[in-house]
Amino acid sequence: MARLKIQSVTVAYDSVPVLRDFTLEIGEGELVGIIGPNGSGKTTLLRTIARLLKPLKGAVFVGELDLKSVSVREIARNIAVVPQEDVTLFALTVFDVVAMGRTAYCPPWGSLGKDDINAIEEAMAQTETEKLAMRVITELSGGERKRVMIARALAQRPRILLLDEPTANLDLKYQLEVIELIRRLNREHGTTVITVLHDLNLAPLIADKLVLMNSGGKIHALGTPEEVITQRNIQEAYGAPVVVSRNPLTGKPSVTLLERRIVLKPNLRIHLICGGGSAGEILSLLIRSGCDVSVGALNRGDSDWEAARALGATLIEEAPFMPISERAYRETCRAISQSEVVLITDVPFGFGNLLNLQAVIDAASGRVFIMRPKEFSGRDFTNGEATRLLRQIYSTKQVVELNNIQELIRLLSPSDNPT
Ligand code: ADP
Repeated sequence: MARLKIQSVTVAYDSVPVLRDFTLEIGEGELVGIIGPNGSGKTTLLRTIARLLKPLKGAVFVGELDLKSVSVREIARNIAVVPQEDVTLFALTVFDVVAMGRTAYCPPWGSLGKDDINAIEEAMAQTETEKLAMRVITELSGGERKRVMIARALAQRPRILLLDEPTANLDLKYQLEVIELIRRLNREHGTTVITVLHDLNLAPLIADKLVLMNSGGKIHALGTPEEVITQRNIQEAYGAPVVVSRNPLTGKPSVTLLERRIVLKPNLRIHLICGGGSAGEILSLLIRSGCDVSVGALNRGDSDWEAARALGATLIEEAPFMPISERAYRETCRAISQSEVVLITDVPFGFGNLLNLQAVIDAASGRVFIMRPKEFSGRDFTNGEATRLLRQIYSTKQVVELNNIQELIRLLSPSDNPT
């Protein structure tokens, strides 16, 4: 019924179009996040839906209702907006602010009726703002004020709730409150929610479906967070280098902005012995710097395996939780023999990954970098077997000890001695 249909809409400011021939359909009860770089038209889209802006061309429908043909009050009974900046400068009580949401239902200058009071009380209960009713809005915290603004919108009893960056400028605790509130409104009350979101890592936690806009005011991608937040989509739409991996705690895509490229020895072939997240930062540094990186052997699902996969390193894999097999050992030896440098991160060693150290002994012909070797015994869970192999590496290879990533950068910078 309350399907929202934005049909071939063109919107312009001073005849400069921001949205061009823009079409989007949102079903009843959906929770949709709008993401995209600054200036891509996200706020313009919300304002167009709420008919605060009139399109030059095209139409917006709520169900069968063409918003062009209905009154402002009728629109307000269907759609409510929580703007990014709350513009309440007056020292009104929270109750008065929430009551503003009833303007669309009250006769001009009329007093609040029973229905209005019910709607206000319900909106305050949903947003847990009842206790704040008699407080002055300007004296509340940012998070409380945001909840009051959402209450005001809910008092309109809208079918569609529009929010513009609801978590912007809020501390983590208040962000969480607002996120939980939005999701509850959607789940328990069936309200259709369309929200502009700034934080690409919060977006997949809030919305079930995402619309990624690009700087041309067009939809770049549309779908589930997993479909939309991909390295390619984000890099294309935002024009910034990122890596997208899967957040191990939430299972959702997670975006990491990459730093400026550091120039290391071009095309250096380096093999990493790592695991358990010990390589993430090193891996991304090496790959961004144009090194030819192989990694392994690593169990599928290991966080370094995830990182290597996301970054496109050559991976030697083993099945999850399985000790390194003969096959994986041989592949590791081959990768090591083709590398100028082997780097052993501060990964712990158990009987499952011990063969990686054996592979260094058997196949390394260049330098072997060892991260934080002084703490090695604390990472040895093999009754000293790993320590024995490490000693063998020290006695047979050209070992370089490293204490941090800066030392690695110094060693691999082009001014260093040739490898
Ligand atoms: P976003 O929300 O994605 O940052 P906006 O919808 O706010 O993008 O803005 C899209 C484009 O429209 C920008 O180039 C912006 O400068 C322009 N714009 C926004 N509001 C106005 C306005 N009131 N007058 C003129 N140009 C505007």
